[in-house]
Amino acid sequence: MTVEDLLVEGKSSIHSDHAKILLAELLNLNPLEMLLHLDDKVENDTITKYRNEVRALLNGKPLQYVMGYTNFYGNKFIVNESVLIPRFETEELVENLINYINKYFKESIDIIDLGTGSGAIGITLKKKIPLSNVDLLDISKDALEVAKKNADNMNAEVNLIEGDMLESVDKKYDVIVSNPPYIKTGEEIEKIVEKNEPHLALYAGEDGLLFYKKILKKINKNLKDKFIVAFEIGSDEKENVIKLVNKYMKDVTIIPKKDMSEKDRMIFIISNNLINE
Ligand code: GLN
Repeated sequence: MTVEDLLVEGKSSIHSDHAKILLAELLNLNPLEMLLHLDDKVENDTITKYRNEVRALLNGKPLQYVMGYTNFYGNKFIVNESVLIPRFETEELVENLINYINKYFKESIDIIDLGTGSGAIGITLKKKIPLSNVDLLDISKDALEVAKKNADNMNAEVNLIEGDMLESVDKKYDVIVSNPPYIKTGEEIEKIVEKNEPHLALYAGEDGLLFYKKILKKINKNLKDKFIVAFEIGSDEKENVIKLVNKYMKDVTIIPKKDMSEKDRMIFIISNNLINE
Protein backbone atom coordinates (compact mmCIF):
# COMPACT_ATOMS: atom_id res chain seq x y z
CA MET A 1 0.00 0.00 0.00
CA THR A 2 1.14 3.55 -0.69
CA VAL A 3 1.03 6.63 1.48
CA GLU A 4 -1.92 7.83 -0.57
CA ASP A 5 -3.84 4.56 -0.13
CA LEU A 6 -3.42 4.78 3.62
CA LEU A 7 -4.50 8.40 3.74
CA VAL A 8 -7.63 7.60 1.77
CA GLU A 9 -8.33 4.65 4.07
CA GLY A 10 -7.81 6.77 7.20
CA LYS A 11 -9.91 9.65 5.90
CA SER A 12 -12.87 7.34 5.45
CA SER A 13 -13.22 7.06 9.20
CA ILE A 14 -11.28 9.86 10.93
CA HIS A 15 -10.68 13.55 10.24
CA SER A 16 -8.32 13.95 7.31
CA ASP A 17 -5.93 16.14 9.31
CA HIS A 18 -5.70 13.44 11.97
CA ALA A 19 -5.00 10.81 9.32
CA LYS A 20 -2.22 13.02 7.93
CA ILE A 21 -0.72 13.78 11.33
CA LEU A 22 -0.68 10.14 12.43
CA LEU A 23 0.82 8.79 9.22
CA ALA A 24 3.39 11.57 8.89
CA GLU A 25 4.56 10.93 12.45
CA LEU A 26 4.97 7.20 11.78
CA LEU A 27 6.94 7.98 8.62
CA ASN A 28 9.11 10.53 10.43
CA LEU A 29 8.04 13.25 8.02
CA ASN A 30 6.12 16.41 8.55
CA PRO A 31 2.65 16.38 6.94
CA LEU A 32 3.76 18.71 4.13
CA GLU A 33 6.81 16.62 3.25
CA MET A 34 4.64 13.53 3.25
CA LEU A 35 2.62 14.95 0.38
CA LEU A 36 5.75 14.66 -1.77
CA HIS A 37 5.81 10.92 -1.03
CA LEU A 38 2.24 9.96 -1.86
CA ASP A 39 3.33 7.15 -4.20
CA ASP A 40 5.90 5.61 -1.81
CA LYS A 41 5.22 2.12 -0.56
CA VAL A 42 4.67 1.83 3.20
CA GLU A 43 6.18 -1.02 5.24
CA ASN A 44 3.86 -3.58 6.74
CA ASP A 45 4.56 -2.85 10.38
CA THR A 46 3.97 0.86 9.77
CA ILE A 47 0.63 -0.02 8.18
CA THR A 48 -0.29 -2.09 11.25
CA LYS A 49 0.72 0.70 13.65
CA TYR A 50 -1.23 3.25 11.65
CA ARG A 51 -4.37 1.12 11.61
CA ASN A 52 -4.11 0.55 15.36
CA GLU A 53 -3.80 4.28 15.92
CA VAL A 54 -6.79 5.05 13.69
CA ARG A 55 -8.78 2.46 15.66
CA ALA A 56 -7.70 3.97 18.99
CA LEU A 57 -8.87 7.40 17.82
CA LEU A 58 -12.17 5.93 16.65
CA ASN A 59 -12.55 4.35 20.08
CA GLY A 60 -12.41 7.79 21.63
CA LYS A 61 -8.79 8.00 22.73
CA PRO A 62 -7.40 11.57 22.68
CA LEU A 63 -5.09 12.30 19.74
CA GLN A 64 -2.28 13.28 22.12
CA TYR A 65 -2.27 9.87 23.84
CA VAL A 66 -2.44 8.10 20.48
CA MET A 67 0.55 10.08 19.20
CA GLY A 68 2.31 9.81 22.53
CA TYR A 69 3.16 13.48 22.78
CA THR A 70 1.82 16.99 22.70
CA ASN A 71 3.23 20.45 22.20
CA PHE A 72 3.56 22.75 25.16
CA TYR A 73 5.15 26.18 24.99
CA GLY A 74 7.04 25.23 21.83
CA ASN A 75 8.38 21.92 23.11
CA LYS A 76 7.34 18.35 22.53
CA PHE A 77 6.21 16.63 25.74
CA ILE A 78 5.65 12.91 25.98
CA VAL A 79 2.21 12.10 27.41
CA ASN A 80 0.43 8.88 28.30
CA GLU A 81 -2.58 7.84 30.38
CA SER A 82 -0.63 8.48 33.60
CA VAL A 83 -0.56 12.23 33.06
CA LEU A 84 -3.00 14.98 32.18
CA ILE A 85 -2.61 16.33 28.66
CA PRO A 86 -1.19 19.84 29.09
CA ARG A 87 -3.74 22.51 28.12
CA PHE A 88 -3.42 25.86 26.37
CA GLU A 89 -4.64 27.58 29.56
CA THR A 90 -1.64 26.17 31.37
CA GLU A 91 0.65 27.76 28.80
CA GLU A 92 -0.91 31.04 29.84
CA LEU A 93 -0.19 30.30 33.49
CA VAL A 94 3.45 29.66 32.59
CA GLU A 95 3.66 32.75 30.35
CA ASN A 96 2.37 35.05 33.08
CA LEU A 97 4.55 33.44 35.72
CA ILE A 98 7.68 33.84 33.59
CA ASN A 99 6.87 37.54 33.23
CA TYR A 100 6.48 37.97 36.98
CA ILE A 101 9.67 36.06 37.71
CA ASN A 102 11.64 38.18 35.24
CA LYS A 103 10.15 41.32 36.75
CA TYR A 104 10.84 40.52 40.38
CA PHE A 105 13.84 38.20 40.51
CA LYS A 106 17.27 38.88 39.08
CA GLU A 107 19.29 36.06 40.65
CA SER A 108 19.09 32.31 40.94
CA ILE A 109 15.77 31.14 42.40
CA ASP A 110 14.27 27.93 43.77
CA ILE A 111 11.06 26.77 42.14
CA ILE A 112 8.77 23.83 42.83
CA ASP A 113 5.99 22.54 40.55
CA LEU A 114 3.42 20.69 42.68
CA GLY A 115 1.59 17.88 40.88
CA THR A 116 3.86 18.17 37.89
CA GLY A 117 2.36 15.35 35.77
CA SER A 118 4.22 15.38 32.46
CA GLY A 119 6.51 18.09 33.85
CA ALA A 120 5.19 20.66 31.37
CA ILE A 121 5.15 23.60 33.79
CA GLY A 122 8.37 22.94 35.69
CA ILE A 123 10.47 21.89 32.72
CA THR A 124 9.34 24.91 30.70
CA LEU A 125 10.29 27.18 33.62
CA LYS A 126 13.72 25.55 33.86
CA LYS A 127 14.28 26.15 30.13
CA LYS A 128 13.10 29.77 30.25
CA ILE A 129 14.70 30.71 33.59
CA PRO A 130 18.00 28.84 33.32
CA LEU A 131 19.30 30.36 36.56
CA SER A 132 16.66 28.47 38.53
CA ASN A 133 16.71 25.24 40.54
CA VAL A 134 13.51 23.43 39.72
CA ASP A 135 11.88 20.62 41.69
CA LEU A 136 9.09 18.60 40.08
CA LEU A 137 6.81 16.90 42.59
CA ASP A 138 4.09 14.34 42.03
CA ILE A 139 2.39 11.64 44.09
CA SER A 140 2.33 9.32 41.07
CA LYS A 141 5.46 7.31 40.27
CA ASP A 142 4.17 6.76 36.75
CA ALA A 143 3.77 10.49 36.21
CA LEU A 144 7.30 11.12 37.51
CA GLU A 145 8.61 8.61 34.99
CA VAL A 146 7.01 10.63 32.19
CA ALA A 147 8.35 13.89 33.65
CA LYS A 148 11.85 12.38 33.85
CA LYS A 149 11.77 11.34 30.19
CA ASN A 150 10.63 14.82 29.21
CA ALA A 151 13.34 16.49 31.29
CA ASP A 152 15.99 14.20 29.75
CA ASN A 153 14.71 14.80 26.21
CA MET A 154 14.92 18.54 26.75
CA ASN A 155 18.20 18.51 28.64
CA ALA A 156 16.52 20.15 31.59
CA GLU A 157 18.31 19.59 34.87
CA VAL A 158 15.51 19.27 37.38
CA ASN A 159 14.96 17.27 40.58
CA LEU A 160 12.11 14.80 40.84
CA ILE A 161 10.33 14.37 44.16
CA GLU A 162 7.70 11.75 44.94
CA GLY A 163 5.34 13.26 47.47
CA ASP A 164 1.90 14.43 48.51
CA MET A 165 2.03 18.18 47.81
CA LEU A 166 4.05 19.97 50.53
CA GLU A 167 3.49 17.32 53.21
CA SER A 168 7.06 16.06 53.30
CA VAL A 169 8.95 18.90 51.66
CA ASP A 170 11.23 20.96 53.94
CA LYS A 171 12.95 23.22 51.45
CA LYS A 172 12.02 26.90 51.07
CA TYR A 173 11.19 28.29 47.65
CA ASP A 174 11.01 31.62 45.87
CA VAL A 175 8.33 30.30 43.54
CA ILE A 176 5.66 27.66 44.11
CA VAL A 177 3.49 26.82 41.10
CA SER A 178 0.71 24.30 40.74
CA ASN A 179 -2.02 23.23 38.37
CA PRO A 180 -3.59 20.85 40.87
CA PRO A 181 -6.72 18.76 40.32
CA TYR A 182 -9.68 21.16 40.64
CA ILE A 183 -12.76 19.43 39.22
CA LYS A 184 -15.59 18.87 41.71
CA THR A 185 -16.64 15.28 42.37
CA GLY A 186 -19.55 14.56 40.06
CA GLU A 187 -19.02 17.72 37.96
CA GLU A 188 -19.85 17.23 34.28
CA ILE A 189 -16.73 17.38 32.17
CA GLU A 190 -16.03 16.46 28.57
CA LYS A 191 -16.53 12.72 28.07
CA ILE A 192 -13.20 12.30 26.30
CA VAL A 193 -11.45 13.82 29.34
CA GLU A 194 -13.41 11.82 31.89
CA LYS A 195 -12.91 8.54 30.07
CA ASN A 196 -9.22 8.87 29.34
CA GLU A 197 -7.32 11.24 31.57
CA PRO A 198 -6.17 10.27 35.07
CA HIS A 199 -8.81 11.03 37.67
CA LEU A 200 -5.99 11.50 40.16
CA ALA A 201 -5.05 14.61 38.18
CA LEU A 202 -8.60 15.92 37.76
CA TYR A 203 -10.81 15.53 40.80
CA ALA A 204 -10.54 17.52 43.99
CA GLY A 205 -13.40 16.67 46.33
CA GLU A 206 -16.95 18.00 46.63
CA ASP A 207 -15.92 21.64 46.29
CA GLY A 208 -12.94 21.20 43.94
CA LEU A 209 -10.77 23.00 46.48
CA LEU A 210 -9.11 20.06 48.21
CA PHE A 211 -5.62 20.70 46.86
CA TYR A 212 -5.61 24.49 47.30
CA LYS A 213 -6.46 23.87 50.97
CA LYS A 214 -3.84 21.19 51.29
CA ILE A 215 -1.13 23.36 49.75
CA LEU A 216 -2.09 26.63 51.46
CA LYS A 217 -2.24 25.05 54.93
CA LYS A 218 1.44 24.16 54.65
CA ILE A 219 2.70 26.83 52.32
CA ASN A 220 4.27 29.30 54.75
CA LYS A 221 6.87 26.77 55.93
CA ASN A 222 8.04 26.36 52.32
CA LEU A 223 8.31 29.99 51.27
CA LYS A 224 11.26 32.37 51.51
CA ASP A 225 10.62 35.98 52.62
CA LYS A 226 10.03 37.13 49.06
CA PHE A 227 7.95 34.87 46.91
CA ILE A 228 5.50 34.27 44.10
CA VAL A 229 2.84 31.55 44.19
CA ALA A 230 0.93 30.70 41.01
CA PHE A 231 -2.16 28.52 40.79
CA GLU A 232 -4.30 27.42 37.89
CA ILE A 233 -7.92 27.38 39.06
CA GLY A 234 -11.37 26.25 37.91
CA SER A 235 -13.33 29.05 36.25
CA ASP A 236 -15.81 29.34 39.15
CA GLU A 237 -13.25 29.03 41.95
CA LYS A 238 -11.68 32.49 42.02
CA GLU A 239 -13.55 33.85 45.04
CA ASN A 240 -13.12 30.68 47.06
CA VAL A 241 -9.42 30.36 46.35
CA ILE A 242 -8.89 34.04 47.25
CA LYS A 243 -10.70 33.40 50.55
CA LEU A 244 -8.39 30.50 51.27
CA VAL A 245 -5.31 32.56 50.42
CA ASN A 246 -6.47 35.29 52.82
CA LYS A 247 -7.08 32.70 55.51
CA TYR A 248 -3.60 31.18 55.34
CA MET A 249 -1.28 33.89 54.03
CA LYS A 250 -0.31 37.40 55.16
CA ASP A 251 1.12 40.49 53.48
CA VAL A 252 0.46 39.36 49.95
CA THR A 253 -1.03 40.85 46.83
CA ILE A 254 -3.44 38.56 45.04
CA ILE A 255 -3.74 38.94 41.27
CA PRO A 256 -6.43 36.89 39.51
CA LYS A 257 -6.21 36.55 35.74
CA LYS A 258 -8.50 35.25 33.03
CA ASP A 259 -7.51 32.88 30.24
CA MET A 260 -7.95 33.64 26.55
CA SER A 261 -11.54 32.39 26.69
CA GLU A 262 -12.21 35.12 29.26
CA LYS A 263 -12.61 32.61 32.08
CA ASP A 264 -11.07 33.09 35.52
CA ARG A 265 -8.16 30.69 35.34
CA MET A 266 -5.13 31.82 37.33
CA ILE A 267 -4.24 33.33 40.66
CA PHE A 268 -0.86 34.88 41.36
CA ILE A 269 0.09 35.59 44.96
CA ILE A 270 3.04 37.93 45.37
CA SER A 271 4.59 38.82 48.71
CA ASN A 272 4.22 42.53 49.39
CA ASN A 273 7.87 42.92 50.27
CA LEU A 274 8.70 41.85 46.71
CA ILE A 275 6.26 44.34 45.21
CA ASN A 276 7.33 47.23 47.45
CA GLU A 277 11.06 46.76 47.22
N1 GLN B 1 -8.32 22.08 32.88
C1 GLN B 1 -8.56 20.67 33.02
C2 GLN B 1 -9.88 20.28 32.38
O1 GLN B 1 -10.72 21.08 32.21
C3 GLN B 1 -8.58 20.29 34.47
C4 GLN B 1 -7.23 20.40 35.01
C5 GLN B 1 -7.17 20.29 36.47
O2 GLN B 1 -8.06 19.79 37.16
N2 GLN B 1 -6.09 20.79 36.96
O3 GLN B 1 -10.07 19.16 32.02
